[in-house]
Amino acid sequence: MAIELSLSEVAAGVFELRLPIPFEDGLVNVFLFTDGAEADLLDCGMNSEESLDAIHRALEQLGSRKLRRLMVTHIHPDHYGAAGMLAGDGLADLYIHRLEVPLVHPRYVELEHLVAEVRHYLLVNGVPPDEAEVLSNSQRSLSQVVKTAEPSVQLDGAESVQMGSRQLRVEWTPGHSPGHICLYEPAEGLLFAGDHILPELSPNIGLHPQSTPDPLHEYLLGLARMSAYTPKLVLPAHGRPFTEVTARVDALVSHHRRRLDQILEILGREEKSGWQVALDLWGPRDNLYEKRLALQEGLAHLQALAVEARVGKSVTPGSVRWRRA
Ligand SMILES: [Zn+2]
Repeated sequence: MAIELSLSEVAAGVFELRLPIPFEDGLVNVFLFTDGAEADLLDCGMNSEESLDAIHRALEQLGSRKLRRLMVTHIHPDHYGAAGMLAGDGLADLYIHRLEVPLVHPRYVELEHLVAEVRHYLLVNGVPPDEAEVLSNSQRSLSQVVKTAEPSVQLDGAESVQMGSRQLRVEWTPGHSPGHICLYEPAEGLLFAGDHILPELSPNIGLHPQSTPDPLHEYLLGLARMSAYTPKLVLPAHGRPFTEVTARVDALVSHHRRRLDQILEILGREEKSGWQVALDLWGPRDNLYEKRLALQEGLAHLQALAVEARVGKSVTPGSVRWRRA
């Protein structure tokens, strides 16, 4: 069924298109950059008929006959899902950070290895076996809304890339995903923030088999770097564009600082598993996906505290335990 097109010009030649997704607040924002009869796209929504139809109708409305580049901020399904429908042989060129590339196949194509790896990781972090079974399989459904594509360009960060008629700088901002990127346009102070800085939600920063080893510290460094640009307008992937980046970054940083303090308090004098800490922090949850995210986020905080030597981390083949240093 065709959805009503939500397309608006956010800067000259830059159009925000809002696409439906079945989680977050129900919408992901992608951006079309026009250049004569061609256009470039930042993020592409999920691989669903209504979402793709909206992209094609938007291109038509903008008079763009050809999609030239598809740039993705990271490989989560709402940002990357339709990549294989829009990029590849005879289609657009896919630009993606190189740390995202090795995550694609195990997550969306050959799932068995990752499912087993996640099950093991849940068990060593204290999740009861029956829940670990269900949680490790919860990823499977996501592969249905993703069609993968081969990258044409693998980015390191700091590249200058033409999007529409504008030159944008690739900003590697790991944390939410290892190869998450933002795009920055210094001329007008536009920051395309992906999931790095959202106006209402605190992006999930998790420690898990596909994350980098200390995602929270990386994330906070990236926040400071983006905030130092003092962009005039932040264009996030979820929620509405906003101007007060310093205030928003301050709020996100203090949220994480509070969390770190809370976790130290929860640990008290006892040694605990990540699962125990997550349950104490968030209480029991019904939604499976939320449970897994809560554990991963709790572990990212514990790991940051361990890196700072405020928490001790002890490991055996069967368990990971944390206690106050
Ligand atoms: Zn994401």
